[in-house]
Amino acid sequence: MSRPAAPCAMAPVLALALLAPVSRPPAMAGPPRALAIVHATLVNPGVPRVPDAVVVFQGGRVTCAGARAACAIPAGAEVRDASGGYITPGLIDAHVHYSQTGWLDGRPDAGDLRARYPYDSVVAALRDRPERFDRAYLCSGVTSVFDVGGYPWTLSMARQHEATPAAPRMVAAGPLLSTIDFWLNLPFARQFVYMRTDSAVRAGVDALARMGASAIKVWYIQVPDTVQQTMRHRLTVAGEEARRVGLPLIVHATELARAKEALEAGARVLVHNVEDLPVDSEFIALARSKGAIVIPTLVVLTGYEDVLRGRSPASRYPLDCVDPVTRSHLETPVPDSIRPPASRFERLPATRARSAHNLAALVAAGIPIAMGTDAGNPGTAAGPSVYAEMEAMQAAGMSAAAVFASATLGGARAMGRERELGSLAPTKLADAVVFDADPSADIANARRVRLVIRGGALHTRAELLPRPQPLSASAGGSGR
Ligand SMILES: [Zn+2]
Repeated sequence: MSRPAAPCAMAPVLALALLAPVSRPPAMAGPPRALAIVHATLVNPGVPRVPDAVVVFQGGRVTCAGARAACAIPAGAEVRDASGGYITPGLIDAHVHYSQTGWLDGRPDAGDLRARYPYDSVVAALRDRPERFDRAYLCSGVTSVFDVGGYPWTLSMARQHEATPAAPRMVAAGPLLSTIDFWLNLPFARQFVYMRTDSAVRAGVDALARMGASAIKVWYIQVPDTVQQTMRHRLTVAGEEARRVGLPLIVHATELARAKEALEAGARVLVHNVEDLPVDSEFIALARSKGAIVIPTLVVLTGYEDVLRGRSPASRYPLDCVDPVTRSHLETPVPDSIRPPASRFERLPATRARSAHNLAALVAAGIPIAMGTDAGNPGTAAGPSVYAEMEAMQAAGMSAAAVFASATLGGARAMGRERELGSLAPTKLADAVVFDADPSADIANARRVRLVIRGGALHTRAELLPRPQPLSASAGGSGR
């Protein structure tokens, strides 16, 4: 796609942007010296707040977090006064997809714009230029993500992200095993691997383990009754193989019956809520006995509705952290030719209500919850969609403190990294956020990010906002 001509009034702004000194990217900042955040209130999940706290980061780890008298500031440390702020562990989005764009160009199955945005070019840009999403996550206070399904390159991307202070940490499942032979692949790379035979499932799990996947994801989509028992058996095989290779089984199952089967197969994480029926005591007993974690993903369907109805998601979450290309896609109504009839969304309010009800029932039963957005799907932008998700969780009846815990320690548990992430305590990794107001008192306060610390490197929110686009840049590489 050729770049649209900039209106004349924009030209001086763009020219100034080109003349501005090139800011040093945070990734090049080198190993950060010790950093002490002082005078903020320390907010950790599940424990009382500590006013006027000191949090010290050194060597990429938290070395002290507590009352001022308890934490000495090392000589030579950078000391940042965060008076009036609230320092918390970094937020974790436990359900994302770096193999999708947040709009229809990454999901042509939902609305086909491939004539304008060839799918292979879109995926190449996702693979080669994840920085726009990395910045949007940090800008939104998200310092870790769980990529629960995508192309094989997400596995190497996760390893690269770990060492990049300008990107969120990333745990990735890689290609997902599927009950349907879904077409959204590339000639030389698959993100969906069909569970055609038992041996294909075993070979798939073995290959994923060898490729460095951190979890085995099954896309347990409802299939016709004639093949349901076969696919249930293959899910069981996937669970057995996952245990054999030492990886957690994580499952997409949005029907109550399928979600129970997933738990019986050993799912450690259900990456969505049950959406078709109210959860029952059998489901809750199963989830409890298996120690499963549920990621409710309350808002992703609303994202599809927004995009396909030509509405911007800006009324649900702010877009200032979103890169200009994704933002312009989200703010421009899609062509009438691809809009489905309004009847397509008739059942959505009931589905939303059921999902909210089920979340409340799971919380009341003490089932562990992790916050996840399903970012990458159309209308669910990487980064600030966490605000819509967390606010929907609070509206469903979770306390702000419980939502905050699900978006920190809950996400760390879902990723299998609770020993390193999810709270600010000595030896944990140096990922934190300073908010202007307490997110554990009202989760809407999570919108008020002041500072972000990732791997001990300090970023102000302003530094993490999208950079001005140079004139020579193509439209984000997603529309060649
Ligand atoms: Zn997903």
